[in-house]
Amino acid sequence: MKLTNFRFETDSDGIALLTWDMADRSMNVITQGVMAELDQVIDHVVADPAIKGCVITSGKESFSGGADLTMLQATGVEFAKVAKAKGEEAAMRFLFDSTAKLSQLYRKLETCGKPFAVAIHGTCLGGAFELALACHHRVVSDSDKTRVGLPEIKVGLFPGAGGTQRVARLMQTGDALQMLFKGDQIKPVQAKAMNLVHAVLPREQVVSAAKEWIKGGGIAKAPWDVEGYKLPSNKVHSPQGMMIWPPASAIYRRETHDNYPAAKAILQSVYEGLMLPMDIALRVESRYFTQIIRTPEAAAMIRSLFVSKGELDKGARRPAKVPPLKIKRVGIVGAGFMGAGIAYVSAQAGLNVVLVDRDQEAADKGKAYSHKLMSDQIMKGRAKSADRDALLARIHATPDYTALKGCDLVIEAVFEDRAVKAEVIKKVQAVIGRRTIFASNTSTLPISSLAENFERPSQFIGVHFFSPVEKMLLVEVIMGKKTGDRALATALDFVRAIRKTPIVVNDCRGFFANRCVLNYIREGHLMLAEGVPPAMIENMAKKAGMPVGPLSLNDEVALDLGWKILQATKKDLGEGAVDPRQEALLKTMVVDLDRLGRKNGKGFYDYSPAGKKLWSGLVDLQKTKLVADTIDRQELVDRFLAIQALEAARTVEEKVITDVREADVGAILGFGFAPYTGGPLSYIDRMGTKAFVALCDRLAKKHGERFMPNRLLKAMARKGESFYGRFNPNKGAEPAKKAA
Ligand code: NAD
Repeated sequence: MKLTNFRFETDSDGIALLTWDMADRSMNVITQGVMAELDQVIDHVVADPAIKGCVITSGKESFSGGADLTMLQATGVEFAKVAKAKGEEAAMRFLFDSTAKLSQLYRKLETCGKPFAVAIHGTCLGGAFELALACHHRVVSDSDKTRVGLPEIKVGLFPGAGGTQRVARLMQTGDALQMLFKGDQIKPVQAKAMNLVHAVLPREQVVSAAKEWIKGGGIAKAPWDVEGYKLPSNKVHSPQGMMIWPPASAIYRRETHDNYPAAKAILQSVYEGLMLPMDIALRVESRYFTQIIRTPEAAAMIRSLFVSKGELDKGARRPAKVPPLKIKRVGIVGAGFMGAGIAYVSAQAGLNVVLVDRDQEAADKGKAYSHKLMSDQIMKGRAKSADRDALLARIHATPDYTALKGCDLVIEAVFEDRAVKAEVIKKVQAVIGRRTIFASNTSTLPISSLAENFERPSQFIGVHFFSPVEKMLLVEVIMGKKTGDRALATALDFVRAIRKTPIVVNDCRGFFANRCVLNYIREGHLMLAEGVPPAMIENMAKKAGMPVGPLSLNDEVALDLGWKILQATKKDLGEGAVDPRQEALLKTMVVDLDRLGRKNGKGFYDYSPAGKKLWSGLVDLQKTKLVADTIDRQELVDRFLAIQALEAARTVEEKVITDVREADVGAILGFGFAPYTGGPLSYIDRMGTKAFVALCDRLAKKHGERFMPNRLLKAMARKGESFYGRFNPNKGAEPAKKAA
């Protein structure tokens, strides 16, 4: 056998060890080459009577991340070629054959007659875990780094190489559906409890334990291929099955609003598959998979959430000429809500943190937040107390600014007040070295004007976190007028170190994310003022694909903050810059009724220990009350998405956003913009700029100027251009001014 992706050796007991170790990659991935070699190995193991069985393991730090998604993109291109040359039917057959190949290969392994075991350390996800599931025995290491799972749903796909069928035959149907819908990465102990793996052992023992299993007479048959196998939740058409399937369909609709074809395909594959023998069930799964990879949702999600996010994570926007920096020490001034979170994620990444506040008590309070978060992790069994001690030892909480000396980067997160920030900048400047980069976490103050307080404005930059910092994956990096390359490189290296995704935006009011999301919230306010029933506003926003309704979101960020932003906007940009209906609503809520949101237990919702519910008094504030059945639901959905997408298009025209990938990735990670669309610009591209402009014109006529398409969009619509065509990120963005 000639193998390039694997090493193959057989020990004196006749047990083969197949070590997956791709020479040209840091992580093993499933490619056509890997599949061809695995096929050969199976034949070889079967043909050689001296080989009793085979253990598959990895020669890398991790097992494998799964299939190479670019392989799927290439299949898409091939599909289009076949469709053109031989017609749609031939193309569909080609697609089925090529995508079903992996599933058939795994089934070949499972039924080859010789035992295969897998020894896993590190991540083993997607197609790689489907390979593991096809093996007859699975041993995983007990390491913190080990994770198994089927995360395909997160990029609009589903496990199409047997995953839906094997998982549903290993555990209760409800649990299997949950696992497939969520796509979580599962820790070893949990995986064992879920019946996904057979043994959890120290890393050094996984291979030998897998070999022992074969030596001990491990059976080369999956449970479902053994006579008398019974499904864990009994048959689909049984009293037990009937307890599962009707609610499962309802839960699917509640959670997805039918926006995710892959989620529906999971439901269908499992439902139909469980009524069939394995070989036919796998064909059913393959058929659904063939449909799903052709959906615009999968294409958009793969592009934004896998390809573009991956590129941004790896520093696509980093100035190449600045040598890589190893950030070791970070200063954070302001140990409040945000500062405490930034300190935690920095220490979590192994950085030394100096956390400064006005007095020791305030600094300690900030550090205590890390203590709390780590204690929660310990309670959930996800960390040990030694981890907490080590993390806390990396955070030095103090009121003494001189401790900031020697920091590579200092981030301020003090009150959103120009004078306070100016004073802090001066105090920090007095103690830091000449090469330290200064960053502000301001959400509303222009970076260029804050930089005026700093002696070296080229070393001043914005790093805008989202709350809660430990959960939100995005950081907006804001370039002031004078921000230099080294500041940008440092900020990006820092964001990479803390394992978040950066987008780089040019300075402007609200930067990128807040501009879009404030439009979303305002649309909810205006619907309320128009008389749309409050519950309908929230539900239609979710139908549009937003994770939380605008009223609920406003409650979370606080209504008085919204009120303050309106007042500041009016002061800076004049009366015409705010909608009087929105202002009147917020005035009533904040000034007259003291309804500030979740923080004081009353906003658009009422909060109690039992949960939250829409405030019953809301309808009394509505002068007009529309009847739900008379309202055009699709129009509400369109309004929510269009008003945000339009703002994203404006940021491209204004060159706040200079790379279309950043608008899409930033919108999904920053404020949950309908992920199935692939982000606001992908949403426009899918519809076509011409249709989008027509939609905006229609909405503008009915609802006002805020829906007027900008010049860039109109120009693109005239020429039939798309964002990813015109501003192709791989060719470098074109200056928007020329375009409009
Ligand atoms: P916060 O009020 O919770 O914390 C501010 C902290 O700064 C307090 O601990 C305060 O004691 C400290 N402080 C004030 N003056 C100081 C000084 N002179 N020296 C040292 N410490 C000082 O506020 P927050 O919500 O954490 O916001 C901080 C910054 O982050 C603001 O600029 C805000 O706009 C921005 N931001 C907030 C959010 C959010 O969701 N809260 C999101 C993104 C950005």
